Parts: sequence; C-alpha cells; structure tokens
Amino acid sequence: MATLSLHQVTKQFRGRAAVCGVDLDIASGEFFAVLGPSGCGKTTLLRLIAGYEKADSGSIVLGGRDITHCHPRDREMGMVFQNYALFPQMTVFENVAFGLESRHMGDREVRDRVKVALDAVHMTQKTADPVPTLSGGEQQRVAVARALVLRPQVLLFDEPLSNLDAALRTSTREEIKTLQRESGVTTVYVTHDQGEGMTLADRIAVMRDGVVRQVGTPRELYEAPEDPFVAGFLGGANLLEGLLSAEGIFQQGAFRIVLPPSHYRPPGRATLALKPEGILLAGEGIPGSVPARVDAVEYMGWMTTLRIASQGVSLRVIVPSLSGALSLRPGMTIWFTIDWEKAFVFPGGE
Ligand code: ATP
Repeated sequence: MATLSLHQVTKQFRGRAAVCGVDLDIASGEFFAVLGPSGCGKTTLLRLIAGYEKADSGSIVLGGRDITHCHPRDREMGMVFQNYALFPQMTVFENVAFGLESRHMGDREVRDRVKVALDAVHMTQKTADPVPTLSGGEQQRVAVARALVLRPQVLLFDEPLSNLDAALRTSTREEIKTLQRESGVTTVYVTHDQGEGMTLADRIAVMRDGVVRQVGTPRELYEAPEDPFVAGFLGGANLLEGLLSAEGIFQQGAFRIVLPPSHYRPPGRATLALKPEGILLAGEGIPGSVPARVDAVEYMGWMTTLRIASQGVSLRVIVPSLSGALSLRPGMTIWFTIDWEKAFVFPGGE
C-alpha cells in the first residue's frame, strides 16, 4: 500500500476556489476521513485525488510517484460513489468483473479475483443476481467489491452510506471498517456526517470553504479543537462571539461569565465554545453557577437534550437522563456551571 500526499492543491470553478491550498499526508494503510458541511469542497478534493478533476496548481504524490497529471486509470485507485454507479443491466459478477475484463485479464483469473472480492463483502451467494434485485446495502457492497477487485493502492469513498437507512448505515459502516482493516488499503473517505468520520477514521481533515481547518485523530479534534468551526462541527459546541477583558471576563451582550485563568486569552474579540455536555446542571447557590430558563426538553433515551436561555443567549445542553433531568419542563429555572475542560476560548471571531 502507499502513502498519499497533497501539496498546495487548488481547484477553482468559475473563479471561486472549491479547494484551496490543501496539504495532506496520508500514511500507508491509514483510514483517513475528509469531513465538512455541504459545499465545503470534499467531493472536489476526492475527484482531484482520483484524477476526475485536474488541479489548477499543487501536486499529488502516491507512493513517491507524482500522479498530478496522470489519467484516472493509471492512478491505481478504486472509487465508491454515493449512488453505487453499478451497471443495472448486468449481474453482480459482471459488474465486479468489468474492470478486469477491460484490462484484458484471462477468464480464470477474472473468476478467481471476483470471487475473492465478493467473499470480502459477503456477497458470493448473489454472484449471478441482476443488480436491480439487490437492496441498497447489497448494491453498495458490490460497489465496494468492484473497487477492491482492482487491488487499488488507494480506496476512495464519496459519502457511500448516504442512501442507506439508519440501521443499514451502521452495519455497512462496520463492514467497511473491518474490510479496510483486513485489506490494509490506504483509504480516503468523504462524509458530512461527523459520527461516521469519528467512528471510522484513524485521522480526519475538517474542511470548510475549500480549506482544511484541522487534521487530527477523532480524539484530538474533539478534545482539542483549534478553531471555533471545528468545535462546532465535531462537538456541536455552542459558539458565542463576544469580548474578553484582561481580567478574564467574557461578555456577549448581557451574557457574562468569568473564565478560569487556564482559559485567559489576549483581551479583545473572542469566541467562547461551550460543549453541550460541558454545561452541568447545578443546585441553586453553588458558587459560580448561573441561572437559566428551560425552553425545550427532548428525551432521547440515556440522554436528554435541553435548550436553555441565559442572560440573552440560547444554549444547547446534553445531560444524562437521570431523575433531575427527567423532571425538567419548559419554563422552569435551572442553574448551571461549566466544565471548563469542555469549553474553549478562541481569540477573534468565528
Ligand atoms: P456535498 O457534501 O454537498 O456534496 P462537497 O463538500 O462535496 O458538497 P463539492 O461538491 O466539492 O462540495 O463542491 C464545492 C464547491 O464547488 C461548491 O460550491 C460547488 O457548487 C462547486 N462545484 C463543484 N463542482 C463544480 C463544477 N463541476 N462546476 C462548477 N462548480 C462546481
């Protein structure tokens, strides 16, 4: 398997950068996710790696070979698309065999390699079935087999689970993870779903507006976000933009909170990111606690999500569904404190 490096890769459409100065170093055998909201340039980045788009500038290097200007066929990559992109008039076997036959491989070798690929995705029993008779999950497994059968250096996934229902998404996600671990193939996986990125990937690049904002392991990104966008996108943090005083007081309008010294930053504009699970229900009168009104309560099983209003700001809070949380109703007053390990202060605005 091979390492994949991108150096200052940029792509514009109609004068607007879809991908802007992206640098990435993806290790051999790594499961690497590209995560970001719709329109941030994820698919364009993947298509640049695959060779379906041509970079305006920058370079792409695979296993020491500069492939920036290579035809997609010569890049030794397999791609799995959101919509499976199978040939509907063909059987499972024919779909998986197609890439090998177009490389003029002998019948016997084609048969052996298709069998290994279909085995890997547990689809051997459906080898002769026509594609339209398969479920969405089965079609996606065939699409994975079709990519694997070419024994690519790199496997590329573009939101492969988007068309599956929730239960199938979870099981197919687990299968993809197992398959990747067993095959050891370097993998780049594009998704807008933070849960998918966090559970699958060894490392994640978080993108916004064509720019990579942070690269790290899921834990690094979650526990030490380097900017407000990453804190909001991965941890669902509440983002408050305001002013920080030299004495460590953060203020947004009427909302005022005293920061611990560990969170002091240079005075001026700042963004306070509060993770929903870092806002803790407290008894009235506990030192440092702040009052708030409960606006909404959503019971979600082991946890309960609250929307609270405090001094003019609205905050999302996640608490375990213990007896205290279960008795909460809209309109009630609660008191909260902040777990500062789950709160971040970033100089400047978002
Ligand atoms: P989504 O999750 O919605 O698929 P994405 O993060 O994958 O979004 P891209 O599809 O890479 O984002 O698009 C990034 C930007 O580039 C968008 O503004 C999009 O409109 C634009 N774009 C992408 N492909 C083209 C194209 N072929 N021509 C013109 N603009 C394009």
